[in-house]
Formats: sequence, structure tokens, C-alpha cells
Amino acid sequence: MTRQPIERVLIVGGGTAGWIAAAAMSKLLPESIGIELIESDAIGTVGVGEATIPQIRRLNMMLGLDEAEFVRETKGTFKLGIEFNNWGGKGDSYIHTFGDVGMPFAGLGFHHYWLRARAEGSNADLWQYSLHKKACDERKFAPMERVGRTPMTGLAYAFHFDAGLYAKYLRRYAEQRGVIRTEGRISKVELDGETGRIASVTLENGATRAADLFIDCSGFRGLLIGEALGVGYRDWSQWLPCNRAVAVPCARTEPLLPYTKATAHDAGWQWRIPLQHRTGNGHVFCDSFTTEDAATETLLANLDGEPQAEPRPLRFTTGRREAFWHKNCVSIGLSSGFLEPLESTSIHLIQSNVSRLIELFPDKSFRKETIGEYNRLVGKEYELIRDFLVLHYHQTQREDTEFWRYCKNMEAPDSLKEKMGLFAASGVIFREADDLFREASWLQVMIGQNLMPEGYHPMADRPSKDQLREFLASVERIIGQAVDALPDHADFIAQNCAAG
Ligand code: FAD
Repeated sequence: MTRQPIERVLIVGGGTAGWIAAAAMSKLLPESIGIELIESDAIGTVGVGEATIPQIRRLNMMLGLDEAEFVRETKGTFKLGIEFNNWGGKGDSYIHTFGDVGMPFAGLGFHHYWLRARAEGSNADLWQYSLHKKACDERKFAPMERVGRTPMTGLAYAFHFDAGLYAKYLRRYAEQRGVIRTEGRISKVELDGETGRIASVTLENGATRAADLFIDCSGFRGLLIGEALGVGYRDWSQWLPCNRAVAVPCARTEPLLPYTKATAHDAGWQWRIPLQHRTGNGHVFCDSFTTEDAATETLLANLDGEPQAEPRPLRFTTGRREAFWHKNCVSIGLSSGFLEPLESTSIHLIQSNVSRLIELFPDKSFRKETIGEYNRLVGKEYELIRDFLVLHYHQTQREDTEFWRYCKNMEAPDSLKEKMGLFAASGVIFREADDLFREASWLQVMIGQNLMPEGYHPMADRPSKDQLREFLASVERIIGQAVDALPDHADFIAQNCAAG
């Protein structure tokens, strides 16, 4: 069969998903493929995606963005992790940083040595050996790939940014590379009677756009994948019950923290995201356990600056599309599913799905093997992220409200139960291929929420007591010296990437 190349791609939606797709495709696909994006200012975007994970740096590199310009244009700050308050128990606090804790020794992960030291009477906290935690405590930041000549990796970081400015920034990028933007509301989607594929969309002003490949970035609604093609949604609310949020920006307060805060409340949790010009806040909650009024009241009572707008309500259902790619339509962003913003994974899912689509870029035959592989890979990534998020809720000791009792006692997915069981027994964390979250991430959340293993790997018994003591002390010393040499986070921004 001769290959029939795709000639026209139509992206429906200009939120973060639409513009990331447009930017990446305009950079990587041949210029012979015409790319158009339709968005409706009247409908608007969700626009609250303000916190990211380090993988976004790969997207920036692929696009060739200058990091300082990117941070300046989006009024961004740097992010080293998320501080979780009140999750394991009320009053508990831990940080899930993006970096490793300690450094490996004789081929074994650091935490096994820490567990051995504990078994021998040490009361040192795991995070005493975290470069990132110390940098967060001292509010310091500068990009650092490696710590001196040691085997310790440097600071892994991501960004907080203004999602509206981010979409505008990517729009300029994509338009400079030939993407055509059309303003207007799509009122009709036409299917091909023979193949059942999408043939064209029609705007309210009567204009019609045909294409070979349609990318549905229309948000929760799933205008193409759900409404036009009828692909269903797999609801995961039994594991991730939060289904609403109220968001409000407030004035920037000092100091400028290089991390997000996620503080658990009675029926959900509140985020705090520091930007250069303001702080983003939101309360994610489950409406079976509280009301929007009560959630808003809690949000406003827990701001650390003056609110700058009316609180904005949002509704969602956690879960995923039954198929992410169906016929000639690929859903990316909120139209493909939503896993709630606890670990800031949505923008990552957008970028990884866009790269997968580019890797598996079809021709007009839309082979079922290509579509099947895409759906398998994306589905697996969704499941792995879901398990990591569920861990935060399920591994709680809180029983003080109905919401937390539900989370503690719910039946977790089998895949998660196995992971928790293995760690509890042996301290071993097995990273599945394709899991976005590394061992260090699982470790910090499990220990941070008081899942303490009964054992550790026998290799940790190889060093003598003195060697172990010296190794642990040297890790602390190296971290201390590295963080001493870092600049203040706010100063680093002021000198390198301050917004005008
Ligand atoms: P949207 O932003 O909803 O954009 C949809 C687009 O489709 C718009 O341009 C709209 O105009 C267009 N459209 C819809 N219908 C039509 C039509 N009929 N005709 C024409 N155009 C149409 N992600 C993170 O990574 N980090 C976070 O910290 C984070 N926090 C979040 C907090 C909350 C409470 C929520 C709900 C989400 C959060 N997210 C976060 C997710 C993030 O906001 C989204 O993944 C991201 O904004 C992508 O959204 P989208 O582009 O898919 O959809």
C-alpha cells in the first residue's frame, strides 16, 4: 500500500494543551503539513495549570526556548518539590522533592543505609540527607547539574508559571512557525458517512474546516473525542474522589519559596503556588463531603496575601478516556482525562502525549496497530500516575473526618497495594518501566506518610558501623557545602529572569 501522508492537522482548542501541541508540531513536523488551531475566546481556558514537574525542561529544550526568557515571560519561579502538610496525620509535614535523597553507595540505594542506621538507634530524619530539602528550607536556588565531584546529582527543578502567559508565549512561538490561528466557536462536527472519521468542523459564523488529523484539545468537554465520536470516559472517582476546586490568586508575599505547598483540609487540600507577581491558590475538594461555600471559606481563611479576584469554581471527574486516539482524532489535555492536580502531572501528560503522537505520526490509513500502541502507552502512563496520586490519599492515618476515613479505608488498586506491600516488608521500591515517578519520589511520599519498612536490603549491612557513620556524615557535609554556595531564590530570579 502506498503511503498517503497527512497534509492538514486541525487542533481544536487553545489552552495549554492546544498550544503545546501546536508549538511542538510546528517545530518537528515537515513544513508541508499545514497546522491550524481553532479556539474561542468566549469559551476561554481552564488556565489554572501553574505548577510543573522537571520533565517540562525537556519540552523547553526540544522547542529551543531560552530558560531565562521563558521564566521572565511567564512571570515564573523555580520549583524543587511540593511540601505536603497534614497528609499522613494532622500536623505532619514532609516534602516530596524532585531529587534523590542522599546518594547511592556500593551499588545500593541510600535509603537502605538510612534504614539500617535507624534500626541501630539513629533518629536522623530522611530529609537530613536531601540536598533539595535544605535548598527549600534556605530558599536557595541556581541550576546545578551535579554536586562538585561527588556522585550526588544536582538540583532537579521545574517551574511555577502563569498559565495564561504560558499559552500566549507558546502561541507566539507556534505562529512564528506557520501555525494558523482561527478565532471562533465550533458549533458542528461532521463525520464521514463511510469511515466514521471526522471530516470537518463548522464554526458559528458558517466557516468550515476539513483536515486529515484532528487533535482534540477542547478541554473537559471533549468536543470531538467524546461528543462527536462517542468515546466514553472511565471514571476513577472511587480512588481519586475530589471532583471540584475553587481557585483564587492573592498578592505575592515574602519570602519567595522555591516549592509548592499542598495542605490537606477536612475534605480535600489546598495548593499554594508562588509566582513573581502573585501567589496562585486553590482548594480541591469532594462535594460528597463538603459544600462549595464551605470550601471557599476554608480557602479564603488560609491565604497568606490579599485575594486579587473572586474565587473561581471548577468541576471535574477524575479518570481517563476509554480510548485516547479514535479513528482520525487524538485527544490531548483535559479532553483525554484528568488525574487532579496533586502532583502537577497534567502538563506533563500533554507533553508526553504530544511526543508520542509525533513518534507514531500516522498517514491517512490510520493503521490500527499505530492507534492501538498509542492507546496502550498512554493508558499505562495514566495508570502509573493514578497509583502514585492514590498513595497520598490512601496512606493516611487520619480518621478525623468522613473524607479521610473514606480515603484510608478505600480499596486501593492492586498495583498500588503490591508496591506498598513490597516496600513495607523490605524497603524495596521497584520502578516499573514508563513510571514517571522515580524511586526517590515513591520513597519520600511513603516515608513522609509514615509507611516505615520493617526491613532493609542486606547489602546495607556490608559497611562497618564506623564506615556507615562516616558515609552518612559525609553526605550531610557535602549537602551543607553545596547549599551554602547557592544564591537566594528571589535574588537568582531578580538577577537572571525578572519580569518587567
Ligand atoms: P482548556 O484550558 O479548557 O482549553 C480548552 C480550549 O478549547 C479553549 O481554548 C477553548 O476555547 C477551546 N474550545 C472548547 N470548546 C470549543 C468550541 N466549541 N469551539 C472552539 N474552541 C473551543 N496542570 C498542571 O500541570 N499543573 C497544575 O498545577 C494544574 N493545576 C490544575 C488545577 C485545577 C483545579 C485544574 C482543573 C486543572 C489543573 N491542571 C494543572 C491541569 C491544567 O489546567 C490543564 O491540563 C491544562 O490547562 C490543559 O487544559 P486544556 O488545554 O486541555 O483545556
